[in-house]
Amino acid sequence: MTRAAEASIDLQALQYNLQRVRESAKNSRVISVIKANGYGHGMLRVASALSSSDAFAVAKIEEALTLRQAGFTQPVLLLEGFTDADELALLAQHAIEAVVHHQYQIDLLEKASLPSKIKIWLKIDTGMHRLGIDLDDVTVSFKRLQDCENVVAEITLMTHFANADDHNDSRTSTQLKRFNSTIQEIDAPCSLANSAAILKYDESHAEWVRPGIMLYGVSPFIKGLAAEEGLKPVMTLHSKLIAINHYKKGNALGYGGSWHCPDDMPVGVVAIGYGDGYPRAARAGTPVLINGQRVPLIGRVSMDMICVDLRSQPSAAIGDRAVLWGEGLPVEEIAECAHTIPYELLCRVTERVRITEVE
Ligand SMILES: *Cc1c(COP(=O)(O)O)cnc(C)c1O
Repeated sequence: MTRAAEASIDLQALQYNLQRVRESAKNSRVISVIKANGYGHGMLRVASALSSSDAFAVAKIEEALTLRQAGFTQPVLLLEGFTDADELALLAQHAIEAVVHHQYQIDLLEKASLPSKIKIWLKIDTGMHRLGIDLDDVTVSFKRLQDCENVVAEITLMTHFANADDHNDSRTSTQLKRFNSTIQEIDAPCSLANSAAILKYDESHAEWVRPGIMLYGVSPFIKGLAAEEGLKPVMTLHSKLIAINHYKKGNALGYGGSWHCPDDMPVGVVAIGYGDGYPRAARAGTPVLINGQRVPLIGRVSMDMICVDLRSQPSAAIGDRAVLWGEGLPVEEIAECAHTIPYELLCRVTERVRITEVE
């Protein structure tokens, strides 16, 4: 028997969401972000479905090389850039573009002798304070890159927003202003917008937008829902009821026995747990769909199983379908119940979950 836990990936929904990006940023080229195994959906699967993207972005050099080995010829951007001369040589060899976010990378570029020139995206820190060149150093860094014989003449300028997911935060506008005033004297294409900025800050779209989470049909906004943004969920995580048991009022359920039956009641056991990537932090009351109807999670999440309250579904039967998130049950809502964000839930679905494609 194959395991019941399965993630269905809706390829048409991926393409639909890419179309939403194009409608939102009509004059920008689109660099689809497919890091972390395509946000848990399978990087190569996502790259194939989104092959009309103008470029792909990944975080790790292994991800970039995997794309090249699989035959993808689109531009590929390495968001963290290179960390030593060997990596730099590999990037040049495979025509992979790199973010430069630090002086040491410019030093490496100046010292290297490469088989071909490399395309560079210079990342400016406008307030996120994670990666990026300080505002005061931009002009000098840009000049050094322009003068470097290993670098392709057209250099793209980029920055990343720290708070674009929050509708009530003014810091995105501040970052945007800093970026614009710093690059005033420089003639170069620019890239600023992640999903949240694509949907909310038209003035940030520039030459290249960098959508990630919205491609997967998830709202980038705090307390947001995909449907409000016209996005379609791509991943549906589902499994089956493998047992229905009847317990007495007062019986303690599962590890720790912290949940007590308030009534004599039917309890369903669904074959999914934190070993599959369902969050252990999901609180009692987190919704699960049984045959399309919401029932609450009860007791603690185990490695392989969860329990649900079936009092409202007396006709539920062993073998019935249970949806944990996706179609009919927003992953945004489950993330909130588990005190995390949808990005993390999608990325951490584990290898033992079977992935199937829906066309
Ligand atoms: C991950 C990432 C993105 C995509 O962000 P979303 O919020 O998923 O749209 C864009 N740019 C950079 C630099 C990133 O690291």
